[in-house]
Amino acid sequence: MAIDFTLSPEHEEIRGRVRTFIDEVVKPGEEAIEGKGDGEPLDGKARLEMLIAMRKKASAEGLWLPHMPEEWGGMGLGHVALAMVQAEAAKSYYGPWVLNCQAPDEGNMHTLLHWATPEQAEKYLRPLCDGTVWSCFAMTEPEVAGSDPTLIRTTGYQDGEEWVLNGHKWFISNAHRANFAILVARTEDDPDLPQAANTAFLIDLPSEGWNEVRQIETMHGGTGHSEILIEDLRVHESQMLGGRGQGHMLGQYRLGPARLAHCMRWIAQAETALDMMVDRSLNRYSHGSILAEKQGIQWMIADSAMELYQCKLMVLHAASKIDAGEDFKSEVSMAKHFVANSLNRIIDRAIQVHGALGYSTDTPLAHMYQHARWARFADGADEVHQMRIAQRTIAAYKDHGTTKAATGDLPI
Ligand SMILES: Cc1cc2nc3c(=O)[nH]c(=O)nc-3n(C[C@H](O)[C@H](O)[C@H](O)COP(=O)(O)OP(=O)(O)OC[C@H]3O[C@@H](n4cnc5c(N)ncnc54)[C@H](O)[C@@H]3O)c2cc1C
Repeated sequence: MAIDFTLSPEHEEIRGRVRTFIDEVVKPGEEAIEGKGDGEPLDGKARLEMLIAMRKKASAEGLWLPHMPEEWGGMGLGHVALAMVQAEAAKSYYGPWVLNCQAPDEGNMHTLLHWATPEQAEKYLRPLCDGTVWSCFAMTEPEVAGSDPTLIRTTGYQDGEEWVLNGHKWFISNAHRANFAILVARTEDDPDLPQAANTAFLIDLPSEGWNEVRQIETMHGGTGHSEILIEDLRVHESQMLGGRGQGHMLGQYRLGPARLAHCMRWIAQAETALDMMVDRSLNRYSHGSILAEKQGIQWMIADSAMELYQCKLMVLHAASKIDAGEDFKSEVSMAKHFVANSLNRIIDRAIQVHGALGYSTDTPLAHMYQHARWARFADGADEVHQMRIAQRTIAAYKDHGTTKAATGDLPI
């Protein structure tokens, strides 16, 4: 039995290159965009040009699409290797985007790779991989619980060779700038299973009938999560992605690796917060000693270190299960819940140790905290993951007389 956490020399080399690229290209670019240093913040065209220049550099250096096979221009990495690339890339805010492995495009690429017909893949996946278009995934609706996609009210009915779609979506990330959407609508009136009512469609944007109401202002600002009214939107039947009634399955397929990729990026953010927490504690003096010597601070550091260690083990194990072609649902679910919550706790402690500085926007912590909050309910709320984890644990006990299979099915 081999348990080996060392990277192959080839992967170690890739990790080194990603780290150097993030440090030497992306972080300085990010500082220029934010106007740190001498210059004014960049916006509009100048910001986009800076971002695209960084993308071109990443592509030229072969640090492009770490999650995609080589025939699609990617680095052809498995999920374990991807974990170390994502965890390096997300040390900077724009890193994953620059490497073209950011949500929702990254999840949409997985989806298209698996579900698209060859014609659909050429039309939508190819330019997405080339980085010349943006995409979005439109499932959540304001009127019904996003946690339960069987409640989706956006409907589609067939009219000759076309489908006519009507409904209301919101929190559709990237929709404002996307060139196409994967839209999930209810098409089946009386399916055998409630999960078989939905179908996915590829929508070219802009399209008549796809109306952006607004970009929703959130606790981290207005960042392109849009509310969309879909009014008599007509698509040709060839725009169906997957089969009729397969929309739920497609969504679940998309969410597995996409959730884990979020975890990989969150690990980078949590590590940044822990590094900052320790650094601050070594440099702040109060009541006769530096903070690092206070037991109360050490507990925060220790709890964060232990949690981050667990996060890394869970992500690596779940990734290894995906690579091995084994069932990974439970492990990804547990990792998603645990990493999302650890991320929030670790950033919160880092802010605590920084005091007023942590609450200011002079460090990245406040921004990181605002972003981290959605991790606990998007892509599966905490409680829904807990419900599924409990169901699988109970089922394992009923089937085998032990819960062992539900705790990673590890050899201990
Ligand atoms: C920043 C951001 C980006 C997003 N991007 C996208 C996107 O690109 N595309 C898209 O389609 N959606 C997107 N979403 C929406 C996201 O997927 C939903 O918020 C998520 O699925 C939860 O749905 P909801 O908001 O309707 O909450 P609800 O389903 O109403 O749930 C609210 C709360 O109820 C509780 N709850 C729900 N069900 C249960 C249960 N069975 N048991 C116990 N408690 C339960 C949980 O505490 C949950 O947090 C995004 C959201 C955010 C914040």
